[in-house]
Amino acid sequence: MSRHNFRKTILIVVEIALLLLLSFFLCLHFQKPGRENNAVAVSRIITDSMDEIVPDFPLVPETVDIEITKDFREEFIHGDKDRKYQKYIVLHDTEVDSSAQSIIDMWDKNENKVATHYIVNKDGSIYQCVPLSKIAHHVGYGNTGNNEKYGVQDESRDDKIGTGEPNEGVTDYGMNSYSIGIEMVHVGGEGDYPEPQLEALDKLIEYIDEYYGFESEIIDHKAWRRGNSDTSPEFEKYFNNYKKYRRHSNN
Ligand SMILES: [Zn+2]
Repeated sequence: MSRHNFRKTILIVVEIALLLLLSFFLCLHFQKPGRENNAVAVSRIITDSMDEIVPDFPLVPETVDIEITKDFREEFIHGDKDRKYQKYIVLHDTEVDSSAQSIIDMWDKNENKVATHYIVNKDGSIYQCVPLSKIAHHVGYGNTGNNEKYGVQDESRDDKIGTGEPNEGVTDYGMNSYSIGIEMVHVGGEGDYPEPQLEALDKLIEYIDEYYGFESEIIDHKAWRRGNSDTSPEFEKYFNNYKKYRRHSNN
């Protein structure tokens, strides 16, 4: 090989190498959908490893000392709710002074198949009728504009079985798919919430936080739908503490 040919060969090799390098970077640049798929795969892995740390139902995270009576009812399940959709804990009042057990039975007889995930009795005992991984119908339609305000969407994940028609000014339907509902046995205007009930709610919120690995925003039903009665004015002093400390009292 002459000296001239040798230099020519080296140049061709360098050119090929540069072309390969360029096409490699172009491939990376135009493979955005592929990269998104990778992101999904990664979050799946995180979800799976979270399941190992915080086992799924019916197991209870060991760090929270809590007793929950489970009475799941198939009819209350309105779709799947993966961890990635969890954003809010919505507090309610039952507005009837009955036991959680009889309230679940009452809901079950009802055509609209409304339920919260949990009910907290006045004595502090906790009942659960919908798994955390499933959508329950506990808030329904909210004020127009609330889907945007709360960053939620009306999605096909929710079967909407039993859901009626929207009313004027109350047209947004997305909160059920992004929240966990907790009902407290309480009738507005009929006295304070007993201490054992509030302590049980403290633990339940701690438990849900532990389950998801982050703190969901705590709201009440009337924040989603103006004019709704729950939670009642007696809860206001605790509600502020829940927002700040995730407990009913700051002590
Ligand atoms: Zn409510």
